[in-house]
Amino acid sequence: MHKKYKIAILPGDGIGPEVMQETYKIIKILQTKLCINIITSEYDIGGIAIEKHGTALPKKTLLGCKKSDAILLGSVGGPKWDTLPSKERPEIASLLPLRKYFNLFVNLRPAILYKKLNYLSPLKTNNIKNGFDILCIRELTGGIYFGKPSQEIHKENMHYAIDTAIYHKYEIKRIAKIAFKEALKRKCKVTSIDKANVLYTSKLWRKTINEISKKYPKVHLSHLYFDNAVMQIIKNPYQFDVILCPNLIGDVISDECGILTGSIGMLPSASFNIKNFGLYEPAGGTAPDIQGKNLANPIAQILSLSMLIKHSFKMNSISNLINLAIHKTLLKGFRTYDISNDKNFVTTEKMGNEIVKSFLEEL
Ligand code: NAD
Repeated sequence: MHKKYKIAILPGDGIGPEVMQETYKIIKILQTKLCINIITSEYDIGGIAIEKHGTALPKKTLLGCKKSDAILLGSVGGPKWDTLPSKERPEIASLLPLRKYFNLFVNLRPAILYKKLNYLSPLKTNNIKNGFDILCIRELTGGIYFGKPSQEIHKENMHYAIDTAIYHKYEIKRIAKIAFKEALKRKCKVTSIDKANVLYTSKLWRKTINEISKKYPKVHLSHLYFDNAVMQIIKNPYQFDVILCPNLIGDVISDECGILTGSIGMLPSASFNIKNFGLYEPAGGTAPDIQGKNLANPIAQILSLSMLIKHSFKMNSISNLINLAIHKTLLKGFRTYDISNDKNFVTTEKMGNEIVKSFLEEL
């Protein structure tokens, strides 16, 4: 009997269901041609769940996720729900509780600029003639976004606000180990970004990362201050391999690396907990401006599946084949609307079919 791999599929809103449809085609090949016993169950989340069940994260969805080995999410939200009070908005009322429930403390955001697509980047082409391949690793549950107290205070004649940055050593250690392990699978370089010249949380961050690095002598570690890192990434992104950041810094750096690739439609992401349970989703949103027009780029969603196959199912070579199929499809010249520099773009569906074709050629 083949081992069962259960995926909870949450297409969500906007272009979510459209790009998920193309991802199902790859899952079908994994099931039929590679005989991997993948069982998918689909659940509502976000705006669609509010419409159908009166809540953005129905119990049935959460239960379905708990019973699965991994979650593949589309994206949630849209203009229809933008006027709801902030706590009820699909992103706030579904994604945050989901991440919190599973204690997803690490976020991986690969940012790859393929050589042939370097015209998409806002950078000058001589800075990126070789493209780049960066893996941003962001700590997701600690730091200033979660420290208490965090509030606005009116007291006598004073009016001020306070946020608290806290990092426990164990939080830094566990994410550092992940960064070094990921670097070993790549170019063996970790650049850690902090503000250790000013902040105590950053001083502990740097000290702890240095300690952990001793266990990974093959990995070259360097540190950059946040302000300098922002400049270096723009100046020469090719020099980076794995970039490791605390929460707030990673929020900025992962978006910076992402935008340098030119399209949000190509950016996947993965978040895990200590048991390696993962949530995989495109970095972008529901793209209401192109919803229902067959224009969305399915690559971010398919790459999210590829990350799931790699990190949750530990099938590295199959994940590599999916990545290769995407690269090959781009080399063949197929472009969706967002990555095309002329009018010769293909639809979401055609792009999905071409990736399937390239994938089958690799098997
Ligand atoms: P967005 O990422 O949805 O769109 C920004 C731009 O990128 C748009 O021009 C869009 O067409 C384009 N784009 C995004 N994904 C694309 C794809 N796969 N292919 C081609 N083009 C793509 O951001 P937004 O417009 O600020 O947000 C729209 C909605 O999505 C909002 O309701 C927002 O709250 C929600 N959102 C959800 C998530 C999530 O579910 N994780 C993340 C961000 C935004």
